[in-house]
Amino acid sequence: MRFNTKVIHEGQPNDPLTGAVSFPIYQTSTYEQIELGISKGFTYGRTENPTRSALEKALSSLEEGNFGLCFSSGLAAANTVMNLLSKESHVIAVDDLYGGTFRLFTKLYHKFGVDFTFLDLSNPENIRKAVKKETRLLWLESPTNPLLKIVDIEKCAKMAKEYGLLVLVDNTFATPYLQKPLKLGADIVLHSTTKYLNGHADVIGGALVVNSEKLYQELKFFQNAVGGVPSPMDCFLVLRGLKTLPIRMDRHCENALKLAEFLKSHRKVKKVYYPGLVEHEGHEIAKRQMKNFGGMISFELDTDFKGVKKFFSNLKIITLAESLGAVKSLICHPATMTHASVDPEVRRQRGITDSLVRLSVGLENEDDLKEALENALKAI
Ligand SMILES: *Cc1c(COP(=O)(O)O)cnc(C)c1O
Repeated sequence: MRFNTKVIHEGQPNDPLTGAVSFPIYQTSTYEQIELGISKGFTYGRTENPTRSALEKALSSLEEGNFGLCFSSGLAAANTVMNLLSKESHVIAVDDLYGGTFRLFTKLYHKFGVDFTFLDLSNPENIRKAVKKETRLLWLESPTNPLLKIVDIEKCAKMAKEYGLLVLVDNTFATPYLQKPLKLGADIVLHSTTKYLNGHADVIGGALVVNSEKLYQELKFFQNAVGGVPSPMDCFLVLRGLKTLPIRMDRHCENALKLAEFLKSHRKVKKVYYPGLVEHEGHEIAKRQMKNFGGMISFELDTDFKGVKKFFSNLKIITLAESLGAVKSLICHPATMTHASVDPEVRRQRGITDSLVRLSVGLENEDDLKEALENALKAI
């Protein structure tokens, strides 16, 4: 099956009992044992649920992996990966990391003795200099958040393999429609299904996809032992959102490119970060490893913090809110919102200035979005 058939069929057969074409929500906490110790394959709702299994199957197939695991949030999925480590482990991560992942690492796992190095991976050679004998995991994102840097996944994974590291790619921004990290050499793909996979801003969820059965069994053990599992209803909603992923992504990408070009030509915009622009530093790599350039744009306004506030208060249609990947356009201010937990000095060093704005381009009419931005830019 091709990708756009898989999103509709994979893991979701018509119900054998009734013929229902929509996969059922198995709203149950436990399952009958027919005889002592003998069940129909399901024992307890934390351990497994048919609606969750359907979603896990669909996601693993879309990522072209062997096994999927779903969680109650993207961070619950990230936490489960961190459970693989022991207290002296060292992790190398890309420096422009999702704020919540950075917080999980530095505020929680650091306390348990896990050590981290955050690296600019625009040059994969940097990995060599950072590897120690305790290094176990390389944590990548591409495109990164919020600066939309492109990491050459294949090159980084190859280098990490020389040192026997596990390679994780957070594929939330790209989705498997645009990028398939397992095929580029990653061991684990992570998703916040909250974003594009569900796509409608009405679910919090996460997922992991892997190829290795051994790794799957370890992660599955932690999924059950820790218990950060999603509800059957949320799994159903993600399965429903997934069915339109390819057509939504096509439109997100189309709208984003047009808005990026518009913003680039505006005199009140100092800089536009969008991998689809030819002058973007990672454009050539993105062209190679992605099918299209995604729906996220960041840009720097040519104004101070007061002007940024004015911009937001004059912005119509586009909602000021955290999160991304929804049908509705969402905009945020990384310095005070998604990346507020990052130390201000570190933030500045990484280029997350107080006039940086991150836009998740939705599926509204492109001219309406353009006009909304134009009017808000006029106000600053
Ligand atoms: C949102 C997000 C997460 C965390 O997911 P939640 O579902 O909010 O827990 C992780 N990585 C990236 C890139 C994200 O955008």
